[in-house]
Amino acid sequence: MQPTRTPELIYVVEDEPAIARLIADTLEKFGYRTELFRTAEAFFNGLRQQVPELVILDLGLPDMDGMAVLQQLRGKHSCGLLIVTGRSDVYDRVMGLELGADDYVVKPFEPRELIARARSILRRYPGVVAPAADPTLRVAEFAGWRFEPGSNTLTSPGGQQDTLSTAEAQLLSVLLAHPNHILTREQLLGGRDVSALDRSIDLRISRLRRRFEENPQHARLIKTVYGAGYLLAATVTWS
Ligand code: CA
Repeated sequence: MQPTRTPELIYVVEDEPAIARLIADTLEKFGYRTELFRTAEAFFNGLRQQVPELVILDLGLPDMDGMAVLQQLRGKHSCGLLIVTGRSDVYDRVMGLELGADDYVVKPFEPRELIARARSILRRYPGVVAPAADPTLRVAEFAGWRFEPGSNTLTSPGGQQDTLSTAEAQLLSVLLAHPNHILTREQLLGGRDVSALDRSIDLRISRLRRRFEENPQHARLIKTVYGAGYLLAATVTWS
């Protein structure tokens, strides 16, 4: 049985409205969800809220040099990265790949080429997503709870502090990075083959759930989406 998939989220960072629209329309036609950002600043703000599965990044942005954007992302982003450049300069492409981009397209490009490259990157990134991309963000608040990934500290709405195990903290971090988004078992496990591990993710979820839910059988925060996976039903604020 093919599990139901939440469409992958793709951030399109492009300051030229016509090109941004073309990219977004093409992606949406193929069933992807998109969000558009016209500046590097808006994009970094977006990343703090949610980490997408793929970023399509124009290297010529008005507020920041493309290479500087890549340098900031380097080592922090756990999503795919496709660069779009108007420069046909070999140096830019090589630099972009060196700085962590997965692939590139050169303007003007065919929508079909963009889709093919985006798909191929997404296949390599099964949507695993680490916590907030910005390491200066230390605390996640959700539904009255606070979680500090740096120390695995979970504080209840009543002020009781607990230290989570590394496994629990990892799982919670992935859920917090994608609030209100169905995550498959595969995504929650970090893209490994899940056939043998199905049980272990369910056990970890139920362990985590026991911390939050008065009645784990009727979970309201970490919901089971039958045939698909799990979903964190909360608004998450990182600070
Ligand atoms: Ca541009």
